[in-house]
Amino acid sequence: MPIAEPEPRPHEGFANVPPLDWTQADVRERFAAALDSVRERFPLDVRPVLEGRRLDGEATHDSRNPNKTSELVAHIRVASEGEVDAAVAAAKKAFPAWRKTPAAERAAILRRAAEIAREQRYELAALQVFEAGKAWNEADGDVCEAIDFLDYYAHEMLRLAEPHPMGHAPGEDSRLSYEPRGVAAVIAPWNFPLAISTGMASAALVTGNTVIYKPATETAAIAAGMIELFEQAGLPKGVLNMLPGPGAEVGRALVAHPDVRLIAFTGSRQVGLEIVRRAADVQPGSRWIKHVIAELGGKNAIIVDDDADLDSAVTAVIQSAFGYQGQKCSACSRLILLDSIHDAFLERLRDAVDCLPMGPVEDPSNVVGAVISPAALEKIERYAALGETEVRTIVKRRHEGDGLFPPLCVFADVPPHHALAQEEIFGPVLSVLRAKTFDEAIAIAVDTDYALTGAVFSRSPAHIQQAREEFRVGNLYINRGSTHAIVERHPFGGFKMSGLGSKAGGPDYLHQFVIPRTIVENTERRGFVPDVQ
Ligand code: NAD
Repeated sequence: MPIAEPEPRPHEGFANVPPLDWTQADVRERFAAALDSVRERFPLDVRPVLEGRRLDGEATHDSRNPNKTSELVAHIRVASEGEVDAAVAAAKKAFPAWRKTPAAERAAILRRAAEIAREQRYELAALQVFEAGKAWNEADGDVCEAIDFLDYYAHEMLRLAEPHPMGHAPGEDSRLSYEPRGVAAVIAPWNFPLAISTGMASAALVTGNTVIYKPATETAAIAAGMIELFEQAGLPKGVLNMLPGPGAEVGRALVAHPDVRLIAFTGSRQVGLEIVRRAADVQPGSRWIKHVIAELGGKNAIIVDDDADLDSAVTAVIQSAFGYQGQKCSACSRLILLDSIHDAFLERLRDAVDCLPMGPVEDPSNVVGAVISPAALEKIERYAALGETEVRTIVKRRHEGDGLFPPLCVFADVPPHHALAQEEIFGPVLSVLRAKTFDEAIAIAVDTDYALTGAVFSRSPAHIQQAREEFRVGNLYINRGSTHAIVERHPFGGFKMSGLGSKAGGPDYLHQFVIPRTIVENTERRGFVPDVQ
């Protein structure tokens, strides 16, 4: 049965930023030049930002290049707990004027920030290569996504701000409108250091909230770049403040603060659940129940059916499992192979993985580089050792060098309930599972705590339909990999232990940052007195 192509839809004012075209020599040269010019400024000096002022902070954290740990990228001044109170007070003070700022003006600031980011895209991406350890194309992808979030949420805000008349009753004017909630804490992870931070912050800002942004300490220099974008775009002082610092101190203090009404969090399941619990504790003096948006982890599976195009499946599995060293919430960490193609597919996969270029990603020929921190490396090594002792090792490789280079592993015959097949590892460790039938493959795929992304490679319309109905994850991809969601085209986010939020980069997202209000007026005039000057 041929698949009906959907009707083309007009862009209506939003279009994604195209990624850089690496086939062009001048693009590659410009990127290499940006790496040089960004490196010249190291070590950067990153400080807490309060009402536009750079504070001294307390301790200093060193942000190092994961691929070359001897290289210092930035000194990060960490915010003190006292500065948490000051930042919340600043955001609270800025709120009344910002909420009254017309939506169109707020949206225009996002659009200006997007424009500035477009002009600086090479430098913004180059910094990610050094601080986050992203390969060139992954770094560029993150910057593109950040720009898309700015443009898309600006566009969506104008839609939200339109009048929403309700009902058709004569003699009644009923209107639904949306208001900001107040002071928002935006708590971000390091793995999409510009995109996720910009997405959460811009959504909070464009809807009229004021923000205290707590970036991940690992990527605080990239975070400082986001603050500069908004400053250059003309965001009033105090509307966006930044507090770099450890989650257990700065993050916790923000979550518990009685004047914080909204928490937008993206990160691990463990921290997300703690935030949900703590946010429910109403502090003395608070009259609000905090609203929590929490986008958490995944244990994503790709199913390869017995009639699938194996060549395209191998490429997609490798990109999904090992792109950015597997440090994506959407990464494929379980590969479910149908019995009849199991051995042939595994052989092709092994050969392809065996020749994946590994090493420092500053060199664009390397695909798999270092991971973000010694703690991340240690966790990956623990799972790699577990795999080697308890299941069959198909591939185990590692680049040796002055960096946090992880073992890259493919394990086969992994039982579906084994820790390797159930726990989020967040590294280049792929577990291969075997299924006798497509029914069994789907049953295995959904039998985890998480429901973020998943993918199916199949040529069977019946199986594809079955996957649509039964492979219940937030983002299901058919005949493509499980990563690389694009703003507006692929609204992104999961459920179960993968979070409680509504689809970043989708039409429902901004609703979470606002309070809906209904105002109804009886318009049957009964002796109204005209206004007298
Ligand atoms: P993390 O949970 O360790 O940290 C995220 C942020 O929370 C950081 O800024 C951290 O400092 C802060 N934090 C830590 N403890 C805190 C506490 N007790 N109270 C308040 N804040 C605290 O996560 P990470 O290592 O930065 O990111 C990786 C995780 O994020 C993975 O689990 C990944 O799957 C998930 N993630 C999910 C999505 C998604 O869209 N669903 C996207 C990216 C990453």
